[in-house]
Amino acid sequence: MSADPASNLASQPSRGLRTSAAGAVEVRRSARRRRTVSAYRDGDRTVVLIPARMSAAEEQRWVAVMLEKLAAQESRRMPGDDELAARAERLSEQYLHGHAVPDTVRWVTNQNSRWGSCTPAEGSIRLSHRLRGMPEYVIDYVLLHELAHLLVPGHGPRFWKLLESYPRTERARGYLEGVDAVDRLPDPQRDLDTARE
Ligand SMILES: [Zn+2]
Repeated sequence: MSADPASNLASQPSRGLRTSAAGAVEVRRSARRRRTVSAYRDGDRTVVLIPARMSAAEEQRWVAVMLEKLAAQESRRMPGDDELAARAERLSEQYLHGHAVPDTVRWVTNQNSRWGSCTPAEGSIRLSHRLRGMPEYVIDYVLLHELAHLLVPGHGPRFWKLLESYPRTERARGYLEGVDAVDRLPDPQRDLDTARE
């Protein structure tokens, strides 16, 4: 096992973890794969699946292609700050009689343990970038949740009453609980990789 993962990847590209501007990229080669290349995000890392026979040059090209595709897909699914503000206004009108009026709504990348947060005194709402790529109804739920906190702090009955009219509150909470649970599950593949390094 080489101490340098980068040189190891170059000489023996069967499995490798490297970092790029977009974060850690893990390339997995599969003998069963003939032509197809696929990629997905797994927490902070990106996994790219390629056929076993691909050359190092092809691998490099395909990793770049797949990273670009994923980023394009995510930016389509992740509204910008302006759109977020517009959505907050619409949600407030639709479900909170327009009572919640935030001054700022924005994405933040330094919030890993919470999906959203707000500072009522400043009228500011922040959503975690971890929500990126999640279904719209989930992002809307988190946004509405924080909007409701501008009106009612804490999670008492008055707070949940505000969210009652949003039809997918329970579903969205279940989705987020599921994502949290998956993050805590042991990952046999990850343990395997650690053992090999
Ligand atoms: Zn809350």
